[in-house]
Amino acid sequence: MRTFKDRYYLALKQVSKIANSTLSLRKIFDSIAKNITKAMQANGCCVFLLDHKKEYLIIVGTYGLSDIYLRKGPLNAHKSLPEILAGKVVTVANASKDKRIQHPQVAEEQRVHSILGAPILREGEIIGEIRVYTREPRQFSKADIDFINSIADVNTVLIERAKLQQLLARRYKVSEKKAKLAQAPQSPTASLRPTEFVHPSEEQFAKLLDFYCIEWLYEPRSFPLRWENNTVVEMFTPDFYLPGLNLYIELTTLQQPLITTKNRKLRLLKELYPEINIKLLAKNDFFKLLAKYGYGPQGKAKIEGVNQVLYTHTQIQRRIRTLARHISHDYASSERLVLVGVLKGVVCFMTDLMQHLSLPVIIDFMSISYYGGGDSQVVKITKDIDSSITGQHVLMIEDIVDTGMTLNYILSHFSAQNPASLRVCTLLDKRARRLANISLDYVGFEIPDEFVVGYGLDYKGEYRNLPFIGILQPELFKESKPQ
Ligand code: 5GP
Repeated sequence: MRTFKDRYYLALKQVSKIANSTLSLRKIFDSIAKNITKAMQANGCCVFLLDHKKEYLIIVGTYGLSDIYLRKGPLNAHKSLPEILAGKVVTVANASKDKRIQHPQVAEEQRVHSILGAPILREGEIIGEIRVYTREPRQFSKADIDFINSIADVNTVLIERAKLQQLLARRYKVSEKKAKLAQAPQSPTASLRPTEFVHPSEEQFAKLLDFYCIEWLYEPRSFPLRWENNTVVEMFTPDFYLPGLNLYIELTTLQQPLITTKNRKLRLLKELYPEINIKLLAKNDFFKLLAKYGYGPQGKAKIEGVNQVLYTHTQIQRRIRTLARHISHDYASSERLVLVGVLKGVVCFMTDLMQHLSLPVIIDFMSISYYGGGDSQVVKITKDIDSSITGQHVLMIEDIVDTGMTLNYILSHFSAQNPASLRVCTLLDKRARRLANISLDYVGFEIPDEFVVGYGLDYKGEYRNLPFIGILQPELFKESKPQ
């Protein structure tokens, strides 16, 4: 069996060889990431460069990490392990619990446990980072740190040689005016938004993406397509990159001769970069897509009354899987669990959640109504659960907890029946409006003080069938209890 010294020596030899090869830079960095991962017996590695504002980390090489982890959204170097920006090597024992991690939830879901991060320096200035990831808890040794620092030095030489920094600087050039636009949506990619789009159709497409809270980068990356005497003479820059889908989008609302050129470039791009996922959206398909959501020349109205998507279907499903894992773990020693849902808002959540629970469950439902008006409104059970919960482990499933008054009433009703345990799982927690002092054991998302609809939640009986959770236009919503 090879010792760590053998492995590190061999990896350094291999990396020097690759660095001197004629492979494309992306391949060189991917290969370096692979060598680091194998030598350190880790599970993945990423090589990043800082964008020209020294704000975001751009992946230039990667190995072993899941697509979901890589697509978790742009990494802000000031929020994620910021000590590396001060030139320090950083170790993280447990990524899902560490405050310096920007996306701890994704780290937990994707089983990223320990991390070793080191700066890539050029003449004393940080230009990028290398991070190594393990699935098992790991204490990184001095030898690990020395090794990663040596590899970082090789990367500096490489970057210098390729002048990749200049390429990135051009790619992410952002005018100061952009700050204005960046204030609008809450997407983490907002600061990379342009003030102007080359074509109006691109702006419409960006609006559509914003409506669905789909993160996007405009003209995020240029792919060299042709070289003459080591100089790039032809490039292709797709219009959009959607990090959440790992998808590049090129819009073609152009005239036929231009489309032919575009198609040729796209063919070349696919040949040279087979790992790149790119879709060409032709004029008609593009207009149809916009029309479906109320934008563009064929559009009529947006989903009436819904201003913005708060959580997409994918985000909801991902969170539910994590909740189900926690619940299954906590009740692993129980014979069975009784899930009690409060109709009707809970239907989507309850159905999806129970399918991911890995323990025997029985389900029951109750219904409540609100009587009276104004201050004299009272809550009343109109349908109680069908079976007895005495001596049973009960988990109340709620769609949303707002003031908490309804839940408070329901919990006292059930406590009186002496269950073995009584806990609460809610998909949404509107904590800002809480009046009753109740503890929530499992929470999907904490949401702002807005009226939300979709995924089971209604407004006057409508919107329940939307697959996402959206914010209802405030002017439409006059505070009222659901039916
Ligand atoms: P609470 O008693 O906690 O104030 O709220 C009780 C009920 O009000 C919830 O179960 C839910 O049916 C409804 N509710 C509260 N906030 C919202 C919201 O933002 N959207 C919808 N559709 N219903 C809400």
